[in-house]
Amino acid sequence: MLALCDCNSFYTSAERVFAPQFINQPVIVLSNNDGCVVARSPEAKAIGIKIGVPVFQIQDLIYQHKVQVFSSNYSLYGDMSQRVMSTLAEFTPTLEVYSIDESFLDLSGFGHLDLIEYGHEIRQVVRQWTGIPVSIGISSTKTLSKVANHLAKLSDDGVSLLNPENTEKFLVDFPVEEIWGIGRSHSRSLANHGINTALQLRDVDLSWARKEYSVLMQRLVLELRGQPCFSLELNPPPKKSITVSRSFSRAIATLAELREAIATYTSRAAEKLRQHELTADAIQVFALTSRFKADYYSDSVTLTLDYSSDNTAEILRFALKGCDRIYRPELQFKKAGVILLGLMPKSQRQLSLWEPEEGRSDALMQTIDAINERFGRGTIQFAVAGLEKPWAMRQEMRSNRWTTCWSEIPVVRS
Ligand SMILES: [Mg+2]
Repeated sequence: MLALCDCNSFYTSAERVFAPQFINQPVIVLSNNDGCVVARSPEAKAIGIKIGVPVFQIQDLIYQHKVQVFSSNYSLYGDMSQRVMSTLAEFTPTLEVYSIDESFLDLSGFGHLDLIEYGHEIRQVVRQWTGIPVSIGISSTKTLSKVANHLAKLSDDGVSLLNPENTEKFLVDFPVEEIWGIGRSHSRSLANHGINTALQLRDVDLSWARKEYSVLMQRLVLELRGQPCFSLELNPPPKKSITVSRSFSRAIATLAELREAIATYTSRAAEKLRQHELTADAIQVFALTSRFKADYYSDSVTLTLDYSSDNTAEILRFALKGCDRIYRPELQFKKAGVILLGLMPKSQRQLSLWEPEEGRSDALMQTIDAINERFGRGTIQFAVAGLEKPWAMRQEMRSNRWTTCWSEIPVVRS
């Protein structure tokens, strides 16, 4: 058996851990630059706020229902996610972290336990240790545990279990488009074959599923029958690239500002590279103007480093060269970014005759990373990344980074 544990309205739940006054109130979280709604609490959903809607279109609704609006705070969500996942790891020897707010827990060998009760225990401990409410779906395959999770979300107690005795009863009303891995186009084509529910899909002919669709569809049908075909992925594939890219709060027209932005993103990308103990062989730099203007322009340039590196200063040299190449004085840039390519584990890196003495620059990077980790991102940085950064993303309603930044931890008055 396995359990899919999914955080309920994760971003808004994470916000409410530190802002309990908004529990039971509609809460929404906005995308970068405070553009669109990317998450909503159940109360916000109930008043009809849709995912992806531009926030300016729902100003009336926000005012009328006193909706609490937050800019996205990914430092907070990432850290809260890690807390939830490490709590879950207490309950199973093997788990697959599937996304920022979902994990599959392997419960094989737990047959002596009442799994529903175990699910309740997991929920309660996660709630107590992290403040995040979760729903748990338990079954014998990934696909069925996803279905069970849907049902758990609808039920009051947050845990549901599908076993051979009760599965049919639930699949009979379960819409086929809600099944994990069935996209909109598949569900439309299945409907053309008269297949609208999970039960109808479960009972199709296997070879037909394979011929009409793919081997993946065939496996999905088997999974609905309770035969595991998708195993847990315990070793995530190694990263192939690292991208850092943002829209600006306002258009950038000067080379100096574009260089600042590119340098800021490159520094962040290099930091991630070191966190994963990787080095990069090349960097791609790109910038674009507004998609909504007639003179839409985008350009990118890829530069190979002299040697595989994780050193910010070294990567910056190439990033800025790339920036100078794509800059056009007549254009208003709206977004830019960098992608680090040719990643490999630092331990397996080919050494080069031309690189500076190993050790010195490593020590400098480690020191910078340690300072920024302790005192907050950007405490120490390369001057070329700019100090004021007036072009930086708008996040006017961001909550504090309660759990990752010393200067923003909650204050208790007594
Ligand atoms: Mg979720």
